[in-house]
Amino acid sequence: MQESLFTKIIAREIPAKIAYEDDLYIVIQDINPQAPVHLLVIPKRRIATLNDLTAADRELIGGMFLLAAKLMKEMGKTDYRTVFNCGADAGQTVFHLHLHVLAGRKFGWPPG
Ligand code: AMP
Repeated sequence: MQESLFTKIIAREIPAKIAYEDDLYIVIQDINPQAPVHLLVIPKRRIATLNDLTAADRELIGGMFLLAAKLMKEMGKTDYRTVFNCGADAGQTVFHLHLHVLAGRKFGWPPG
């Protein structure tokens, strides 16, 4: 598997604040939080972007949202935002799929 910043975090080669981990996913606190709560839900298998998904990833991606909802519920959050940035022009900087989960403040729309 090709390395990424997140594969290094999964391998404990780079430190991170880990909020949750199982066989399929790791959830970390974003190092540069954009809200009082800012988690990254990351599949352990590196998929670079949403454009690289196949139908076989259906369950893996659905699981990311279920995990986000479970963690928000545990934190007592009913209102939150989930974001996938896909590609550099959309703001993606780490090319290992991750779902941003932000909570704890009011969010505007449209996004910047
Ligand atoms: P994106 O720009 O959508 O690719 O999101 C990448 C996110 O990873 C950004 O919100 C960064 O703040 C975050 N990030 C970068 N390096 C680290 C790190 N070492 N630990 C935790 N989050 C990080």
